[in-house]
Amino acid sequence: MATLDGLPPLRDVIQRHGLDAKKALGQNFLLDLNLTQKIARSAGSLEGVTVFEVGPGPGGLTRAILSLGAKKVIAVERDSRCLPALAEIGEYYPGRLEVIEGDALKTDFVALTAEKADGGPVKIIANLPYNVGTQLLINWLLPADGKWPPFWESLTLMFQKEVGLRIVADQDDDHYGRLGVLAGWCTDAHMVFDVPPQAFTPPPKVTSTVVHLMPRTNPLPCEVSKLERITHAAFGQRRKMLRQSLKPVGGEALLNKAGIDPQRRAETLSVEEFVTLANCL
Ligand code: SAM
Repeated sequence: MATLDGLPPLRDVIQRHGLDAKKALGQNFLLDLNLTQKIARSAGSLEGVTVFEVGPGPGGLTRAILSLGAKKVIAVERDSRCLPALAEIGEYYPGRLEVIEGDALKTDFVALTAEKADGGPVKIIANLPYNVGTQLLINWLLPADGKWPPFWESLTLMFQKEVGLRIVADQDDDHYGRLGVLAGWCTDAHMVFDVPPQAFTPPPKVTSTVVHLMPRTNPLPCEVSKLERITHAAFGQRRKMLRQSLKPVGGEALLNKAGIDPQRRAETLSVEEFVTLANCL
């Protein structure tokens, strides 16, 4: 059967290479190239862009990114069984796909940028393994070199919908918490579209969603470690008034210094108010 890009259908690739999905690796594959192209397109133009992909698996999203004109894809994959299937894609797009076998959580993406991107733009696009997705996002929001704007121009990432809602949540939203404050402080984040379980092989139990994040040019000045101490305390007891939940970090005195009513609850505070509190610590 003909495919959009002329490579064999993903179902055949998976069968030929014996890539039965492993739950422990968060393997839920996307086989529809129309869908993977839709995800890749939500990252904007890929012309001249070096794309980092985490977990290419059999390569459905990788193929979409390459077919849409990315200069290069650097893909980090933990499962060595996927490498022969990915090598076939690399042959089809000579010099444009590099696969690194390894754990993305231990990968130094700042160093990879310096090594591989030749000073050009970098975007990250991935259908993330559900068990490490949030940690990877936090690592990208707090890059090891501390530089902002960061090494990436945008993040286009698939999460379980529940996680996506937490990333884009704003004050007065039940999903608002530590992740929403961190993402809201340093990025503009929005959900692009949902993907139903049956789009994946095997289907996960829950709906997924694609989230797009762009770095804010000038996040309000703030020490992240302080912001995290505040949000950790505030959302650790989110139903309590702040004068109670913030006791370990200064309680009522801190709130008065920041000019914030001690009777309010964590989820009613804007990102700016959390930053003010962190700066008063
Ligand atoms: N990109 C493929 C797709 O969309 O069909 C596969 C996505 S699947 C949800 C997640 C992929 O991440 C799997 O291929 C899995 O082997 C890989 N993976 C899991 N944990 C990883 C880690 N820590 N580092 C790198 N890759 C990982």
